[in-house]
Amino acid sequence: MVDGEHCPSCGKDIGVWSIFSAGLPNRIFCPHCCARLGYRGVRSVYLFLSVVLVGVVAGAFFTALPFLDSPGLWPLVVAGVVFGSWVPVELAIAAFLRRNRQLVWLDAPAPEPNCGHPVEPGGR
Ligand SMILES: [Zn+2]
Repeated sequence: MVDGEHCPSCGKDIGVWSIFSAGLPNRIFCPHCCARLGYRGVRSVYLFLSVVLVGVVAGAFFTALPFLDSPGLWPLVVAGVVFGSWVPVELAIAAFLRRNRQLVWLDAPAPEPNCGHPVEPGGR
């Protein structure tokens, strides 16, 4: 059975945020043990992301065309279109990877405790 949800190092669910915030399917870090993780069989995902990125940038460019006369406005329009389009794409990719691809362990957990994050009150 393909498991794209649980860390192969510690066995805990890595959640959607760790995939979303990684940006790419081979730059994921387990939020529990800090092991570097990646997904197998993601060439088609990279191809899909490349095509979508070209479409998003082109869409942002054409959306910003009417605002080229306002130097302070067109960068905001481009940033808004790119960010607003990319968030749902990343969430959909994260959901797809969790359901359909195998999560593998690429590097050992980081030596620093709690991945360098502040320790929660009552935690370790
Ligand atoms: Zn882990």
